[in-house]
Amino acid sequence: MLHHHPLIATVVGGLFLAFVLGSLAQRLRVSPLIGYLLAGVAVGPHTPGFVADQTLAAELAEIGVILLMFGVGLHFSLKDLLSGWTVAIPGAIGQIAVATLLGLGVAWLLGWSLPAGLVFGLALSVASTVVLLRALQERRLIQTERGRIAVGWLIVEDLVMVLALVLLPVLAGFAGGAATETVTSADQVLTTILLTVGKVIAFVVVMLIVGRRVIPWILHYTAHTGSRELFRLAVLAIALGVAYGAAVLFGVSFAVGAFFAGMILSESELSQRAAEESLPLRDAFAVLFFVSVGMLFDPAILLRDPWPLVATLLIILIGKSTAAFVIVRLFGRSTGTALMISASLAQIGEFSFILAGLGVSLKLLPEQGQNLILAGAILSILVNPAFFYLVERLRPSLDRPAQPASPVQTTQPVTEEPLVPTALTDHAVLVGYGRVGGVIGDDLRRRGMPLLVIEERPEIFKQAQTNGIEALSGNAANAALLEAANIAKARLLFVAIPDGFEAGQVVEQAKAVNRSLKVVARAYSDAEASHLRQMGADSIVMGEREIALGMMAAAFPKSEAEQVPPPKAAGS
Ligand code: AMP
Repeated sequence: MLHHHPLIATVVGGLFLAFVLGSLAQRLRVSPLIGYLLAGVAVGPHTPGFVADQTLAAELAEIGVILLMFGVGLHFSLKDLLSGWTVAIPGAIGQIAVATLLGLGVAWLLGWSLPAGLVFGLALSVASTVVLLRALQERRLIQTERGRIAVGWLIVEDLVMVLALVLLPVLAGFAGGAATETVTSADQVLTTILLTVGKVIAFVVVMLIVGRRVIPWILHYTAHTGSRELFRLAVLAIALGVAYGAAVLFGVSFAVGAFFAGMILSESELSQRAAEESLPLRDAFAVLFFVSVGMLFDPAILLRDPWPLVATLLIILIGKSTAAFVIVRLFGRSTGTALMISASLAQIGEFSFILAGLGVSLKLLPEQGQNLILAGAILSILVNPAFFYLVERLRPSLDRPAQPASPVQTTQPVTEEPLVPTALTDHAVLVGYGRVGGVIGDDLRRRGMPLLVIEERPEIFKQAQTNGIEALSGNAANAALLEAANIAKARLLFVAIPDGFEAGQVVEQAKAVNRSLKVVARAYSDAEASHLRQMGADSIVMGEREIALGMMAAAFPKSEAEQVPPPKAAGS
């Protein structure tokens, strides 16, 4: 039966096991990524039991890459991108050079040919988009200077790899490999390079001139149809369509194509917000990415090739990071920034698999090299969260001299993101500073109550800071944020966010550390209200009911309203 539905079996098997093992990982207090990767190993061909379709899984993962990059583009302006490029371009190129040289060294030790070493080194030099973006998103770093540099770096790496992919067949011609017809000349190499660079430039120009007009127009047109379904479809069609078109017509990677589509939408705040809400699929596909990586892993390599594998891992984890660290420091960035960027890039992923696959099919790279790359990828992705953990531990002590003496930084721009614990006590914590929270915040300030806002959306977080309110950026359901908000010593908690489920998590955690905290929460339905009460909220205000009362009060001023007879009991 399963063989008749390989796509469904792969999606369901992958997501289901990822959910089970991801939850288990979370319970054991390790990153759920590890659960997803192990789910992949379990449904992969190298372990017994159900085997999902590897090719399909890899393609599904690509959709994850597209949606993730589109989402990142939504928060990037051209200015943001260019601001990081002075470091990102030399950084990415320098790091690729170092990793390639190290790869060549290992290849030499293993007795491989020069082209094999080149492909091997190049494959080790490029980081995975999904791993990097997830790590940055989880730590709220994308909007920071270091985040921008890392994303710019990633894009440069992607573009270099696009060039590498078109040059490999040419190289195979030089090397007398099997796949190409004739031995190639230097002219041909130059033409290929120029053609590829020309296509990338053409893509960017087309996006900035044509895309900039057409894409927002399509979205606005669809918004006017009034169909939410059509609107979401439009967003998906744009993200996937531009990515695919970029790859097919211009030879640009899916990721870069999707990034530009998102970046163009980021110019209009309305479309940006709307587009973002339409991306719930993104997380599911990103999970499938990790499952698909896990599937490639053959545990037998640990016994078969332990030393070459150690060397491969050393290049990915130590060689690349050291190169990135030195380059970022050379460009005058702080040690903390340099460490963070090194940690983000100390892994390999999708591009490495593509390069390795092509290398093997062109008979440039031995299969042993491909297996080392696959094993290096999964192991480096596995240890990546530990790298970040270390950097986060080290960073405060390294960056301390650059920070002001006061631990509380109310008007700090989002170029740096430290989760600085507040010094406030006996204060009010306000979660969400949107339409509802904004009004509450103003009132609390008028009353002179010490106030701390937790807000997830960077623009609104900035707005709170501009209004002179101390604020923390991020999801309030995250225990670390509640701790930084000193919830244990707070007097009042306002949960002014629209999602009742998430609000419940915030309330539950807050009450667990502070029983006497008074919690006022916002709800949309009776079910949400009773859920929030169960989680410990003291008072719940139901938005719709208050709107109804307000509308009636507007229609019937108080004196008239008092004369209305009481409503009949239901059923009578
Ligand atoms: P509104 O519905 O206009 O009152 O806006 C609600 C605000 O709450 C928005 O600005 C959201 O970004 C913010 N928000 C929603 N969920 C969370 C959360 N879990 N943590 C922090 N802020 C949130």
